Amino acid sequence: MLATSVPDLDLLIPALLDRVGIEHELNTGVHHRWVTHTPFFWGLVLAEARRLSRRRGAPDWAPGAADMLAIGVAVHLLQDSLANTVSLLWPVRRREYGLGLDRLAGVDDHIEYVSRYPSSPAGKLEAGLLLAALATCGWRLAQHGNGRS
Ligand SMILES: [Zn+2]
Repeated sequence: MLATSVPDLDLLIPALLDRVGIEHELNTGVHHRWVTHTPFFWGLVLAEARRLSRRRGAPDWAPGAADMLAIGVAVHLLQDSLANTVSLLWPVRRREYGLGLDRLAGVDDHIEYVSRYPSSPAGKLEAGLLLAALATCGWRLAQHGNGRS
C-alpha cells in the first residue's frame, strides 16, 4: 500500500520549496497535471530503479522492491485516471485523460477536494476496493494460519 502512495509525494514539493524560501506558483489542487503524475516520468524513474536494483552489490530485496514500486505506481496512476484526470500522454500531449468519477472537476483547492472526495462515486469505489483488499489479506492470513497456502 505504501508503494501506491508514492506518486502523491509530489504534494510535499510546494511545502519544501516554501521551507527553503524558493518562490513558486505550484497549486497542489492540480497536481495531477504535474510531470510527477505522468507514466513517462514514472517509466524513467522505475527503469532506473529496476536497473539499480539488479546491480551487483544491491540488496537481495531490491528487485522485489523495484517491482512492488512499479505495480504501486501503475495502480496509483490508473486509480487517479479513473477518479479524476491525468496527463497520460505527456510529453506527447498535455491533455488530461480520465473518467472523472470523483465528480469534482474544477475543484482545485486541495483541502476542499480531500474533504469532498470520500463521498464521491470514486471515493466510494476506492473504499470498496480497499475493503476487498483487506478482506482478501485477512482471508489469506487465516488460510495460512490453518496450514494452507
Ligand atoms: Zn495521485
